[in-house]
Amino acid sequence: MQVCPTGIDIRDGLQYECIGCAACIDGCDQVMDKMGYPRGLIRYTTEHALSKNWGKREIWRHVLRPRTMVYFAILGLIVTAAATSLSLRMPLKVDVIRDRGMPRVTEDGAVDNVYRLQMMNTEEKANRYVVSVEGIDGVEIISESQFEVPAATTRAVPVRVRVPAGAAPTGSNRLNFVVQDSDDQSVKITEKAVFLVPR
Ligand code: SF4
Repeated sequence: MQVCPTGIDIRDGLQYECIGCAACIDGCDQVMDKMGYPRGLIRYTTEHALSKNWGKREIWRHVLRPRTMVYFAILGLIVTAAATSLSLRMPLKVDVIRDRGMPRVTEDGAVDNVYRLQMMNTEEKANRYVVSVEGIDGVEIISESQFEVPAATTRAVPVRVRVPAGAAPTGSNRLNFVVQDSDDQSVKITEKAVFLVPR
């Protein structure tokens, strides 16, 4: 009671005022040492161990029984899966939205479609991303294709894509946008989109 910062008498059992500072354990052990008695009159234990008068060995034997080992194994698997998923997390997200306007046909028969790319940089530093397209012969980006996105920011950018005359049939064609971090080859996202060729 003299050393307890909350002024309670722990000999009366667990009390909600206890902040678990363990000052009473140290004080009690010092007194027991002086008196030549075994330590541990006040100690960390459980109500169950107290009622069964278990020592440390019995408590550990109870803790390390098959059922708790299975719980530990499941918890370990969950923690490993969470850590793996965190380490494999891609710090870039991309959404591709095709412009609602009709595709434009140039004088030489090439077709242009315009898209809006929404790029989310989830890193704590600014990154430069390089955008390219694939999936149709001769497809290319004819507008700006490199964009800087500030740290932890989403930026929407317009991209104009051109397909040469006759390279794709009329109607809807599958197209892939590839967005890659210019400094880190492992940060790369491929997003599907649709390229429209008018009749
Ligand atoms: S652990 Fe700290 S707060 Fe709790 S009874 Fe002991 S001395 Fe008091």
